[in-house]
Amino acid sequence: MIKTNVIIVGGGPAGASCAWQLRRRGPDCLILDKAVFPRPKLCAGWITPEVVADLEMDIATYPHRFLTFEVTRAHLFGIGLTMRSPQHSIRRVEFDHWLLQRSGAEVITHQVKHIERIPRGYRIDDRFECDALVGAGGTACPVYRSLFREINPRARWLQVAALEQELPYAWQDPDCHLWFFEKGLPGYSWYVPKQNGYLNLGVGGMAQRLQDTGGSIHRHWEHFVATLRRRRLIDMDLALEPQGYSYYLRNGVRRIRHENAFLVGDAAGLATRDLAEGIGPAIRSGILAADAIADGGEYSLDSVSRYSLGAGLPRRALAYGLSRQRVASPAVETPDPG
Ligand SMILES: Cc1cc2nc3c(=O)[nH]c(=O)nc-3n(C[C@H](O)[C@H](O)[C@H](O)COP(=O)(O)OP(=O)(O)OC[C@H]3O[C@@H](n4cnc5c(N)ncnc54)[C@H](O)[C@@H]3O)c2cc1C
Repeated sequence: MIKTNVIIVGGGPAGASCAWQLRRRGPDCLILDKAVFPRPKLCAGWITPEVVADLEMDIATYPHRFLTFEVTRAHLFGIGLTMRSPQHSIRRVEFDHWLLQRSGAEVITHQVKHIERIPRGYRIDDRFECDALVGAGGTACPVYRSLFREINPRARWLQVAALEQELPYAWQDPDCHLWFFEKGLPGYSWYVPKQNGYLNLGVGGMAQRLQDTGGSIHRHWEHFVATLRRRRLIDMDLALEPQGYSYYLRNGVRRIRHENAFLVGDAAGLATRDLAEGIGPAIRSGILAADAIADGGEYSLDSVSRYSLGAGLPRRALAYGLSRQRVASPAVETPDPG
């Protein structure tokens, strides 16, 4: 039996940041992840200046691809809008591995299946024991499934379905482009260049609204690829094979702590309501959970923003367009207090 103070299930941005902060604060921790790192992760890899600040990152010494866009070009019903606020892109396969290594925590490749409450804490798969447990396993997190699903049901109407592909490509346009609500998509599509000739393309939308309206994320992908070709953002003959993934936008999130178990990142469903940004909330929540464990204090999401954009009309319009609830949807969720 391997025993330690804290076990973190999942070594993505949420789990790695939690481990990084725990190791700075004192408690021993161990990360269990089913994947061997570096592992691919479907994600556009857009990160904000807040992420860089939370991680105390020195961009000059980051050893992998890192690109800063001075402008983001938003396309809304045929109108082009320019957002002048520097944002960054990384490749998740590199960034996540770097975060994990930087944490200095021990990582064991193990797929967590069974979690048991024991007097002293938690036992995992009859092999590991800990006092505190952190669920950082993303959308399919076993800690969420075992300990939180009943008390914190996921809001089906806030589930995002996404198709995306990251590929080596000698892009010509260095700006990030976002197309909102094209052809009735309840979401947006993106073109995110990465440093040294990588490109990420994707389409994401609210799964239930797509289903209710007979929409298909694959049809939206085809429309998106046609737009990219028409605008000469990609070659006409570029062959693409996107992959799918899903995650949840932030709801009221009733419980993120239960006894000595904590939920962070996508396991808690923390992606922002307006732009579905998940990396920043994952990292911030991981750090906050670590502080709560180290201090024996409260774990609160008060400082984890529900939105990526500042207050104002664009944010309200996007949050409404992405995550307005259809009347027909089952109302088992808590209302969003934000
Ligand atoms: C297509 C797409 C594009 C996106 N683009 C962006 C973007 O540009 N910017 C942004 O901010 N957000 C984006 N997001 C959201 C972002 O990717 C997530 O919010 C973020 O990865 C959450 O981090 P996490 O650490 O909580 O979970 P994850 O990154 O999912 O990490 C979870 C880890 O847990 C492990 N795990 C899972 N189950 C088990 C188990 N049973 N046992 C052990 N280990 C397990 C997994 O292997 C994984 O390594 C995007 C999401 C998608 C789907």
